[in-house]
Amino acid sequence: MDTDQVRATFLEFQRERGHAILERASLVPHDDPTTLFTGSGMQPLLAYLEGADHPDGPRLADSQPCLRSRDIEDVGDDRHTTFFEMLGNWSLGDYGKEEQLRSVWELLVVRLGLDPSRLYVSCFGGDKEYGLPRDDESAAVWGELFGAAGIDAPVADLGTLARAGEVGSDGARICFYGRKNWWCRGDSMDAMPIGDPGGTDSEMFYLFADIPHDPAYGAHCHPNCDCGRYIEIGNSDFMSYQRTADGFAPLPRHNVDFGGGLERTAAAVIDSPDIFRTSLLWPIVQRLEELSGARYEDETYAFRVVADHLRGATFLAVDGVVPSNKAQGYVMRRLIRRAMRTAHTLGLDEDFVGGLVPTVAALYRATYPEVEERHERVVDVLSAEETKFRRTLDRGLAHVRTYVGQTVTGADLFAWKDTYGFPVELSLEEVRTEGLTLDPGWHDQLDDLVREQRERSRAATKKEHL
Ligand code: ATP
Ligand code: MG
Repeated sequence: MDTDQVRATFLEFQRERGHAILERASLVPHDDPTTLFTGSGMQPLLAYLEGADHPDGPRLADSQPCLRSRDIEDVGDDRHTTFFEMLGNWSLGDYGKEEQLRSVWELLVVRLGLDPSRLYVSCFGGDKEYGLPRDDESAAVWGELFGAAGIDAPVADLGTLARAGEVGSDGARICFYGRKNWWCRGDSMDAMPIGDPGGTDSEMFYLFADIPHDPAYGAHCHPNCDCGRYIEIGNSDFMSYQRTADGFAPLPRHNVDFGGGLERTAAAVIDSPDIFRTSLLWPIVQRLEELSGARYEDETYAFRVVADHLRGATFLAVDGVVPSNKAQGYVMRRLIRRAMRTAHTLGLDEDFVGGLVPTVAALYRATYPEVEERHERVVDVLSAEETKFRRTLDRGLAHVRTYVGQTVTGADLFAWKDTYGFPVELSLEEVRTEGLTLDPGWHDQLDDLVREQRERSRAATKKEHL
């Protein structure tokens, strides 16, 4: 089964279960000024999860393209991309925990054919401070499902992530964690505004037992360990509490929110720990091999960065974003420039956009026809940025290299941005890879210069208007 078939299987399964299948939302949220991008399937549905009635009823599902700029530094490992699709299903006060967990099992084991002996789950272990009980109900459902499949399901109570790394899960099937399994918006349970919904969640992991545990991530392995043995494929949130002044009260209407990574699920289906081997990324990698003459095996990191960033930038262009110096446009510019800089290490310096965008467009022709329909515009927008940056990339790189043995200051970073159009992050990466020394005060120096520049341009605008 390829990635398109995994998506189709998921949506068909949810349709059979009475879910309305929703069209994807744009990567740019229309009525939410607080976030730049749609970063989960839940985000566009928040108003309904908070109580509004959805016109399509209480059972909803979709596959939502997401962009997480905060994951940009993670791209290069085998499981993170900035752009990915999230499979989602929701119950707005309809079915509950047990039906949800059973449906996740049926999806993964029966419909997608995953070997259940490779699956592991996590549940909320309770919270003393807020008097929240352990989610034994979820653990019991999982225990029964594993039992019926003839699989031993030992339980471990691991507590915090730090403690889990010290003690390890020792192969436990069902692992309780503390706040790791508490779902809420924002950073933490403590920071939740009064009235905000929250609840326990239960995650599904797939084990790649051939990958040895890496003690750099903790003495012992467990499902949430970042060493790569376990990959998180999906998460069911049970929104059943509301923050009060001194704790939590049950919400009048309980919701279920499931989010599963399409590419990660597809990777489990083909039994590959590397999501870049799945069918909506691999052809981009192959095209890049053709264009550059380099091999994925030798330059894995660079291939992943270029393939991901170009796919993400393509979808941003489809959804109307243009490279600029602010907001969404800035992230898009950063993706394109970073991809070009990285492609340069593969020896690919020409017709980067023209060579790769058609491959991306072809992959999504059937699923998201708008990619094909807006193909010309996408190529125009991306090529314009390529042309703009191409002129300065080589000069800029050569210039940065003259700093070997010298200290790079905030003023240098500012000048590189001004003169060569090098985004500061890119310069900082260059400083790292070239082993240059950075002035410890660079951050403040840069801030001052940016502020001065802003004031100068404000004064200039005022004059124009006088
Ligand atoms: P991780 O800890 O692995 O970064 P997460 O906790 O950020 O995952 P969620 O916010 O729960 O993930 O998102 C739901 C699902 O979306 C995850 O279970 C995973 O399958 C998928 N997912 C999340 N981030 C990414 C990413 N950067 N690339 C690909 N898939 C992702
Ligand atoms: Mg994450």
